[in-house]
Amino acid sequence: MKTVTTNLCPFAVRSGGHMTWPGSNVQGGVTIDLRLLNNIDIDEKRSVAGLGPGSKWKTVYSAMELYNLTAVGGRLPDVGVGGFLLGGGISLLSFRNGFGSDNVVNYEIVLADGTIVNANANSHPDLFWALKLGSTNYGVVTRFDVRMYPLRDVWGGIRTYAVTSKDTPRLLSSWISFAQGEAATREELQGLFIGRWRKSGVDEIATVWHASLDSVPGPSLTDAPIIDDFTRTTSLLDLVNDLQSGDLADTKRNRWHTLTVKLDASFFWDVFNHAKSIFDKLEYISGMHWDLTFQPITRGFLTASSETGGNPFKSVLEESEDDLALIAYLISWKDAADDEVMNQAIRDLGIWSEGVARERGILNRFLYLNYANEEQPVYTRSVSQKDMARMMDVKRRYDAKNTLGRLWIGGFKLPKDEPGTVFESSSRIEL
Ligand SMILES: Cc1cc2nc3c(=O)[nH]c(=O)nc-3n(C[C@H](O)[C@H](O)[C@H](O)COP(=O)(O)OP(=O)(O)OC[C@H]3O[C@@H](n4cnc5c(N)ncnc54)[C@H](O)[C@@H]3O)c2cc1C
Repeated sequence: MKTVTTNLCPFAVRSGGHMTWPGSNVQGGVTIDLRLLNNIDIDEKRSVAGLGPGSKWKTVYSAMELYNLTAVGGRLPDVGVGGFLLGGGISLLSFRNGFGSDNVVNYEIVLADGTIVNANANSHPDLFWALKLGSTNYGVVTRFDVRMYPLRDVWGGIRTYAVTSKDTPRLLSSWISFAQGEAATREELQGLFIGRWRKSGVDEIATVWHASLDSVPGPSLTDAPIIDDFTRTTSLLDLVNDLQSGDLADTKRNRWHTLTVKLDASFFWDVFNHAKSIFDKLEYISGMHWDLTFQPITRGFLTASSETGGNPFKSVLEESEDDLALIAYLISWKDAADDEVMNQAIRDLGIWSEGVARERGILNRFLYLNYANEEQPVYTRSVSQKDMARMMDVKRRYDAKNTLGRLWIGGFKLPKDEPGTVFESSSRIEL
């Protein structure tokens, strides 16, 4: 850190490398690759593990399973510890234990001036709180101490159905009823994917990701015919391996976009139809794929988050006083020549759906950092004014000259135009 800052050298930091826009590497600078900082130190007595930021969640789960323990980590095996925990972190345990970052009890962090501190509830407590949505604003985290929880088997996996105008709106409604009701007793966090398939005479599919901590097999949410059923009772590690989907993070080009709304089946169905009208026209694009994902952030989830931690974004999520869904649009394609068309398509879908959600009074302004793209104003939207003032105060105390804002390429930055900010008008150096 001292070398890059004293030489005014642009740098980036990479942990698992799963960010869906180029926010963890830099051309013409130094990329600090943390992949070999991948230690997993399990303290069974304290139920706390020290995780190197370069670990992947699959290796974390695999190490913890030997003790019948687990952590609030990613739902796909190759997601990195570092980026996931600095953006919040939604886990299969979130229904019961809140966000991943709620469960961090200590951060070992290298600050802009190269000093190393431990931030926790007793030491540097404001920095500790801000790091729960820290992204690339405060320093490079070199160890996360996280809570562990007992877990043996879970039940879950994927069930897939064809999208039809008769069955899918009913599936959306029963998914909402489940999220608001039975999900709490089964401790089940379900995701719903709807998108393109184009196989075996079926154009689009709806996929339910089941993951129930009580390990008892659950019924289908619909009586529509099932195309695939890969549910089973197994370990969390096997389950996240089952959930792995080639389309989400392979070598193709990807773009994501996110918004947050109240649970509303007719809105979800309208978004699907609008997305279809956009992407059907782009069928000529090589390797084109699109998916809409819906994930519940219910009031139960938010209560778990408050009980476990305290973070800079929960007050915005609580503004709606209702159960919410995080929506993420995920698209992928093959050739760089199609970047602009695809980027514009997801932008159009995002603008359209935010407009309709606002009109219908169901929009919550939260933008989930880990699903957002770089055009989305994550901090302005997801942190209340009061909490933003506190985050900026922490920034002033730990990086007074905004060295990291100027040199660290990538991630999401605190807004420059906040009243009283010490940031310079041009907060990035030109490369
Ligand atoms: C296939 C797939 C599945 C996903 N599943 C989930 C999920 O289940 N739940 C969820 O909440 N999100 C999920 N995500 C989103 C994921 O959490 C984010 O993309 C996250 O940023 C990935 O972290 P990483 O370490 O792998 O990424 P990286 O690209 O390495 O890093 C992401 C950002 O964090 C910064 N950063 C990384 N490590 C550090 C550090 N130690 N100190 C300071 N800054 C650091 C980087 O500079 C970069 O800006 C998924 C993404 C993909 C592609």
